[in-house]
Amino acid sequence: MLTTILYRSHLHDHVPIKTLEDMVAKANNKNSSSDVTGILLFDGLHFFQLLEGPRDAVQGIYDRICQDARHHNLVELMHDFAPARRFGKVGMELFDLREHDKDTVLQAVLDKGTSRYQLTYKDRALQFLRTFVVARDKENYFEIPPANMWEFLAEEADVTIQPDSTQDCSFAFQPIIDPFARRVTSFEALIRTPEGGSPEAYFSAFSGDEIYLADIQSKRQAFKLARELGIGDQRLSINLLPMSLVTVPNAVDILLQEIAANGLIPQQVIVEVTENEIISRTDEFAAEVRKLKAAGISLALDDFGAGFAGLSLLSTFQPDKIKIDRQIIRDVHKSGPKQAIMHAIIKCCASLEIAVIAEGVEQAEEWMWLEAAGISQFQGYLFAHPLLNGFPAVAWPEIK
Ligand code: C2E
Ligand code: MN
Ligand code: MN
Repeated sequence: MLTTILYRSHLHDHVPIKTLEDMVAKANNKNSSSDVTGILLFDGLHFFQLLEGPRDAVQGIYDRICQDARHHNLVELMHDFAPARRFGKVGMELFDLREHDKDTVLQAVLDKGTSRYQLTYKDRALQFLRTFVVARDKENYFEIPPANMWEFLAEEADVTIQPDSTQDCSFAFQPIIDPFARRVTSFEALIRTPEGGSPEAYFSAFSGDEIYLADIQSKRQAFKLARELGIGDQRLSINLLPMSLVTVPNAVDILLQEIAANGLIPQQVIVEVTENEIISRTDEFAAEVRKLKAAGISLALDDFGAGFAGLSLLSTFQPDKIKIDRQIIRDVHKSGPKQAIMHAIIKCCASLEIAVIAEGVEQAEEWMWLEAAGISQFQGYLFAHPLLNGFPAVAWPEIK
């Protein structure tokens, strides 16, 4: 299948520009033996390349290109399939945008076209190319420093307690942090079996609507542990199935009572719900949310982007916080589509004054890209794993 990959990247500082011609010549040999053709543009700092050819060959060449130490910050902009090549000529010419004006380059690119139909800039791939040539989205090209400039150091010790063995559930806590402010913004309580088994393992002991009651009642233990671990006036995030709020009579009152019994105040509690469950009984859910909000509890939409409601849900219902699902966060620094989605979510949430949290952050590059895009709150293994019956120490980023 004829595959097209488009990417852009940054030339490394230490690479002399005069070696580029030589580099291109070597790449061309490799490409032509793999039957890969395309176009390469350079603006003095960034590369933009279109690769086309058989699927495995294009992927193989792209994987090699990703390993090349002469450039960095590779972002895959497009990965698509086409009936025929746009640029079939062997030998990938380097267009140096500093040597020609924009219109000349755009016309020269069309003239290189080899497809049966005249190439036009209506094609997505060529629209990307034109955007690069006219430099329309340069403000979104983030210069992410290498990951090894940071080290992640946990200076304090974990805080743990011996749990009460009569309880049928326990909790692991994971901090949500603002790395630059060096501040924990909240601890999220994640349910566990007493032995530390997963949320699924805990809930599998219940059937039907029992799950919802267990969900609400388990929060007594979450509040108790948080108090014993010394939560003080820090914030605590708990997870609830939206249906737990809807189906358990007086769910909000039960929560408020347990919050008070543990010396906490509603304003420090955040309820996280996942979007995909909200859709079924929206009106009843909205009524429970009003009670939560009236009591001072805030609401976060969990796993945003992983469910089904997404933007239509957001049009009718605005939470205080949105947690972006790890599916979108993973490798965001390498993916053009994920970056475009993140920019849109950040902009939308800024207009709605909704705080954005990135969850499941595992790589320093993901964190740096997200900070550059305007996110300041993070949760993930990069900073701390959840700790059973404890508040884990945070590995704060430090410049080496
Ligand atoms: P969640 O609320 O989105 O919680 C985050 C999950 O991602 C947790 O899994 C956490 O351990 C994991 N995680 C955190 N950082 C990273 C990371 O960097 N990489 C990866 N790969 N994973 C990371 P966990 O504890 O297994 O919880 C799974 C889900 O179970 C939670 O997702 C939440 O939806 C649900 N859950 C947890 N506690 C409760 C609860 O008390 N009630 C209800 N109804 N659901 C709960
Ligand atoms: Mn959660
Ligand atoms: Mn989540």
